Amino acid sequence: MQTIAVLTSGGDAPGMNSAIRAVAKVAAARGVRVLGVEEGYDGLIDRRVRPLTIETSSGLRVDPSLERVGSVGGTVLGSARCARFRDAEGRKQAAATLDGVAGLVVIGGDGSLTGATLLAKEHGVRVVGIPASIDNDIGCTASALGVDTALNTIVEACDKITDTASSHRRAFVVEVMGRRSGYLAMASAVAVGADGVLLPEHGRSEEAVVAAVEALVRDGFESGKRRVLVIKAEGVEVPCTRLVRLVEEKLRGAALPTSAVHIDVRATVLGHLVRGGAPSYADRMLASRLSLAAVDALLDAPAEEAEMVAWLSTVRSGKETRDPYVRRFPLARVLSETKALLDGTSAVTQWRLGLLERAEGALRL
Ligand code: ADP
Repeated sequence: MQTIAVLTSGGDAPGMNSAIRAVAKVAAARGVRVLGVEEGYDGLIDRRVRPLTIETSSGLRVDPSLERVGSVGGTVLGSARCARFRDAEGRKQAAATLDGVAGLVVIGGDGSLTGATLLAKEHGVRVVGIPASIDNDIGCTASALGVDTALNTIVEACDKITDTASSHRRAFVVEVMGRRSGYLAMASAVAVGADGVLLPEHGRSEEAVVAAVEALVRDGFESGKRRVLVIKAEGVEVPCTRLVRLVEEKLRGAALPTSAVHIDVRATVLGHLVRGGAPSYADRMLASRLSLAAVDALLDAPAEEAEMVAWLSTVRSGKETRDPYVRRFPLARVLSETKALLDGTSAVTQWRLGLLERAEGALRL
């Protein structure tokens, strides 16, 4: 009987559990055992693995411990940042744990997929990656596990902030996660009807950011608004509290708009709140579809090089799967596209910024 392994690594994302369960379910249905590796590459190096499938008289089944995890955020396997895996010796030990295993599914972000590429290249391990990152910063795929849930959380939080902001005629700068990517900020700003959005991709100086927010707050209240909402991506380097202080200082030195007795600007950093929570339908669906394609890729037509399964890719290359919305890409291709996404040279980044510019009347920063 064949065995495959699955791990979650790097930043956790809602939908990881749905993917773990889906991998176990699809493999069990095909008579393939699944081992779950605990805490990412740390567990792979230290041989911390447990079976996710059980043998019954009627065949392989998913371990009952996974019964309800599909609807829970985080990852039941645990995740970790593992410094040892960055060294060749660590990867050698990790590969030894996989002796006799037909392939490894890596559920994780950019860093985890980089590590997976090396494991495949150096030790011939068959690897298929499933993109999981709330930041939506992975190349060749339109979305990754966790993005939709994170956006829903941000939208809910901003709606709540709007309730209180409008009651007191306040301006809010809300910071959302995203590392170097402004995707969450951009997408949520459109969804909540924000007055402006600050993205790292714009590459503005602190002075320019402060001036833009100050103008926006003033204009907003002058035009009779009861709340002004600016979404700031984590990757914009001015800390949220400093930004708000500098904007308030600037506003204090200037004449107030006639409609405002006093302008109050507050900062809210949503932080890790955005990582948690039950995965949305869209993330559960994505987890199931990508997991099915990942297991198929490992078992039916394994490639020599490490691959990733991608959702609704706009990149033309890549192998077809049985799912018309899912394609397989060599991880090396994914990683070069990821780099281009973040340094702004990718056609996808240009297109996203172009869309935003065309919506500038609505989003004025
Ligand atoms: P994410 O996968 O969410 O991007 P990280 O960037 O922290 O998260 O990467 C997760 C783990 O992947 C790291 O702790 C490390 O074990 C492994 N990894 C990341 N980059 C590399 C690399 N260049 N070489 C080998 N392993 C890496």
